[in-house]
Amino acid sequence: MNTPTAPITQDVLTIPRKDGVAGAARINLVGLTRPELRAALIAAGTPEKQAKMRVGQIWQWIYQKGVRDFEAMTNLAKDYRAMLAEHFEIGVPEVVTRQVSEDGTRKYLVRIAGGHEVEVVYIPEEDRGTLCVSSQVGCTLTCTFCHTGTQMLVRNLTAGEIVGQIMLARDDLGDWVKPGEGMGERPRLVSNVVLMGMGEPLYNFEAVRDAMKIAMDGEGVSLSRRRITLSTSGVVPEIARAGADIGCMLAISFHATTDAVRDKLVPINKRWNIETLLAALKDYPKLSNSERITFEYVMLDGVNDSDEDARQLVRLIAGIPAKINLIPFNEWPGAPYRRSSDARIKAFANIIYKAGYASPVRTPRGEDIMAACGQLKSATERARKSKREIEAEAGLGVVSIGSCETSAE
Ligand code: SF4
Repeated sequence: MNTPTAPITQDVLTIPRKDGVAGAARINLVGLTRPELRAALIAAGTPEKQAKMRVGQIWQWIYQKGVRDFEAMTNLAKDYRAMLAEHFEIGVPEVVTRQVSEDGTRKYLVRIAGGHEVEVVYIPEEDRGTLCVSSQVGCTLTCTFCHTGTQMLVRNLTAGEIVGQIMLARDDLGDWVKPGEGMGERPRLVSNVVLMGMGEPLYNFEAVRDAMKIAMDGEGVSLSRRRITLSTSGVVPEIARAGADIGCMLAISFHATTDAVRDKLVPINKRWNIETLLAALKDYPKLSNSERITFEYVMLDGVNDSDEDARQLVRLIAGIPAKINLIPFNEWPGAPYRRSSDARIKAFANIIYKAGYASPVRTPRGEDIMAACGQLKSATERARKSKREIEAEAGLGVVSIGSCETSAE
């Protein structure tokens, strides 16, 4: 079996140190799993007998109420709060810019340790609010329709930086449980999370897993696993592990119906081709009609949008409970791919629909703020990089964007 490589190094650690030295940098509690939090509290002097209770109390303050100041944790004794403040901090990524689209989409550019920047997008819909979070700074993969693919990979995000994106969105939306309010009393504005922002989540498996476990914890952020969707370009060996260890919903950046085209659009296909990928999907745990796999399919004019492509797509996914998200390509200035016409998208969708698959066409969201994957950060990058340079990096003289903005399901 091929082993996926994560060709990057972490330059930030959130693992609690055993010594917890006063005066040294304080440990960020955000992103620690329950066992890690317990270990950190004990290392800082919490009696073992009390540790479980303290973890529960602190967990609720951080992840249910959104509290960032130990002083506000009023069910803890004053000297215990002082001890916490001496050893720990509660930190989330810093919002650098926040843009709100006419359609309500919010896009945040956030800064993480080391001064790196990633994007977070919030997409409100009638019955849900979806947050698209990033898992890496840049990406090692070079999907040619994706603008993040033109940005160099800098590093993996830590679990704290991933779950921190959910927390900063809850801050901005006033979405925490308020004093005196019960957990399920009102629907949360951030009701769904999609790992479709910058990066390939399965190349940052452990941090993504820990962050999502924190997000799913019923005493905290409390998102159901069915409201979390991990989108992968097709890192086949990690797909089964995602099912077993995270149990979330799965989306695949599919985008093509032949290996020749997919090799170009999603180059990881050269390593794990369509046949191998589909075999892995058929084995995905819990796959059923109520837990279908989402196939993301960006509609590129003259590249992957023919009637024959639609028919071939139907043939390929036969036997897999699936839905297909058709994503009109969200063009960015200088992008050599073009969006398929509305009529073409409709004809394509019709073939899929008639074959018995849900095939929603995603309405492009936040176009006025360039709320597509890679676009906000890329606006800055582009100021430094000519179109020719970007095309050369992409390897075929055509580049485009990611699918984040339209895939809110
Ligand atoms: S689509 Fe995803 S995996 Fe591909 S380059 Fe963009 S961010 Fe990376």
